[in-house]
Amino acid sequence: MSRSKDPRHHLVYSDRYETDLSVLGTPVDFAPSRGRQVLARLRAEFGEQIVARRARQLTFKQIAQTHDHKYLQDLKDAATWSQIFGVPRVLPHSRETARILARLFYDYRLKSGGTFEAAKLALKYGLAANLGGGYHHAHRDRGDGFCLINDIAMTTNLVISQGLCKKVMVVDLDFHQGNGTASILYGRDDVFILDVFAREGWPYRKEPVDLAVPLSTRDSHLYLDKLKAALTQALGRFAPDLVLFVQGADAFEYGLHNRGDNFALTLDQMKERDELVIDTMVERGIPLAMVFAGGYGPRAWEAHYQGVRHLLIRSEVLRSDLP
Ligand SMILES: [Zn+2]
Repeated sequence: MSRSKDPRHHLVYSDRYETDLSVLGTPVDFAPSRGRQVLARLRAEFGEQIVARRARQLTFKQIAQTHDHKYLQDLKDAATWSQIFGVPRVLPHSRETARILARLFYDYRLKSGGTFEAAKLALKYGLAANLGGGYHHAHRDRGDGFCLINDIAMTTNLVISQGLCKKVMVVDLDFHQGNGTASILYGRDDVFILDVFAREGWPYRKEPVDLAVPLSTRDSHLYLDKLKAALTQALGRFAPDLVLFVQGADAFEYGLHNRGDNFALTLDQMKERDELVIDTMVERGIPLAMVFAGGYGPRAWEAHYQGVRHLLIRSEVLRSDLP
């Protein structure tokens, strides 16, 4: 691992991350501009030299290493998309619909490629963030919960099969359980999944993982202590060459907009949470790549921003005397 103060060695992004899903008829505010907002704020605060490496899309072959061929064919059907995004309306069978779906799918290949790129950068330079990605509900043979293809599972398979590293730990702090990542990766000797999630939240059927920390939304005051203990336990049981940190801004009090109960962590608690994960891995010399995952509404980006900013401080891209 070598050090680099070049922000392009730590950040991955593309303008195409701002996918407009309203064409599918979903009323959910996925906050697609989160990545752009984080970059804009970094530039306003630290100068125009803060630029990200441009994401490149995964190939079909790379995707098919993790996902079933039949499912990838199903994605040409608008009904599959309506199911994944929970909208009753199905776009009509037409050339225009085919064009829309192809464009949307391209964006997901790009965002997933960003996660793979961030993992490679982390292995080389220690810390990296994909300013998007985190589709942890997608299973091998079906999409679920707004997630089409699972960039976390695909990246794990790619880095291991390409011999870039041997053992991957997924630390998933999204409000919802990463059921797709679990159904694809759980049970392998070379993967360890630590997942902190809302006990009563969707998905109602949880998948087994190596270390599950189900927490009631009433007990969110215990969140940081539970996470700290879980990180220590996980690293005592498994020595990863790479950590994929699934950040999740939907644990933030303004990150799960109009979507019922959540952990309602304050911005300060979110900062402490993300710094705990990043610092723990830095102190142990374990490369870490962060992806965004859930975050809804106009303020979700603020939580992502703090994590990315800290990651850049620990990479020494930004000065370390910042608060
Ligand atoms: Zn979520």
